[in-house]
Amino acid sequence: MTERFTGSFTQQEPIPDDAIAAALDVLRHGRLHRYNLAEGEAGETALLEQDFAALTGARYCLAVASGGYAMATALRAVGVKPGDRVLSNAFTLAPVPGAIASVGAIPEFVGVTEGLTIDLDDLEAKLNRSQVLLLSHMRGHICDMDRLMAMCDAAGVTVIEDCAHTMGAAWRDVPSGRHGAIGCYSCQTYKHVNSGEGGLLVSDDEELAARAVMLSGSYMLYGRHKAAPSLEVFERVKYQTPNISGRMDDLRAAILRPQLRDLDTQVARWNDRYRVLEQGLRDTPGLSVIDRPEAESYVGSSIQFLLLDWQDKALCDVIERCSARGVELKWFGAPEPVAFTSRYDSWRYAPSQPMPATDRVLAGIVDMRIPLTFSLEECALIARIIRSEVMRAHNAA
Ligand SMILES: *Cc1c(COP(=O)(O)O)cnc(C)c1O
Repeated sequence: MTERFTGSFTQQEPIPDDAIAAALDVLRHGRLHRYNLAEGEAGETALLEQDFAALTGARYCLAVASGGYAMATALRAVGVKPGDRVLSNAFTLAPVPGAIASVGAIPEFVGVTEGLTIDLDDLEAKLNRSQVLLLSHMRGHICDMDRLMAMCDAAGVTVIEDCAHTMGAAWRDVPSGRHGAIGCYSCQTYKHVNSGEGGLLVSDDEELAARAVMLSGSYMLYGRHKAAPSLEVFERVKYQTPNISGRMDDLRAAILRPQLRDLDTQVARWNDRYRVLEQGLRDTPGLSVIDRPEAESYVGSSIQFLLLDWQDKALCDVIERCSARGVELKWFGAPEPVAFTSRYDSWRYAPSQPMPATDRVLAGIVDMRIPLTFSLEECALIARIIRSEVMRAHNAA
């Protein structure tokens, strides 16, 4: 009998009841705008910022409209100007080079290793080309942050972290997003907390944080923030910083706060599923699982494996045959962008040189989402399906 999987790869869990109740409270009083506050009221957005600052151990936090907006705001706050070059990962998703392009800057792509992290040797060679690195912890893989920060600090390169896939993750117990000058997170439906759209930004730097608040569209109401720098800092930046509205609203913040309280539990549930899948795929001929470094605490909300040096035809067969059995895999080697998946050389607004070592890795990356709606048994089934199709194709080759 050929086993099939019938679940949905895009179905998330429902919003928890306490988050629905909090959202209804906001809807009933009608004050959705973050600065529309009743006497003595803090507002859900300001409280969310306070909660997230405490969770990550950051001095300052700002909630915004999306993860992409958080990254663009961070780039503006550190002073990136049109025409500047910004170092970033060749292996990432379109909002990352998009954030760089949105401020008129030019991405300078850095390669990817077989561990799916940024290639630190390639980065070292390119550090003199830019003052800023927008580091994407793509699919939750965290590079050697000790080496990266030592290198960037020595070269005077400011690091902004894209933590869209690492909210709740850490490197040597330091939360992801807390190594660089600014950490950016997404609260979009497919990430680790779900408000449909939304983003968060954290920093310990008072001037960067104050600029980010002004940029997000605080007008002169920044005093209503609870995880922002003191008013004197705003005095220094308020006439210099444009308002580029991209605020979070209190409805989304109300939905997010209970989810943040559950984050650790959700991370453990993701990792249970990840480990079942990883175990089921390990030791499959022709397939490499990605070994996770000891220092990395990851969130297994997706899984990647490598079919390295496979012929495109054989690899496409695996994807198609898995899909016919209900298992949706994404391939980063596809020549044309599909759905959320695209390659550095498909972002034609950002000119790039060919990167052969990176192309070899990208051509072998197979990627799969792990929604929490999957049971552990379903994860074991999915692994059996992938394993059998990979072995079938491998034996035929
Ligand atoms: C989703 C995502 C973002 C940004 O998220 P949005 O909230 O959709 O703007 C940034 N980086 C990566 C790698 C992502 O997957």
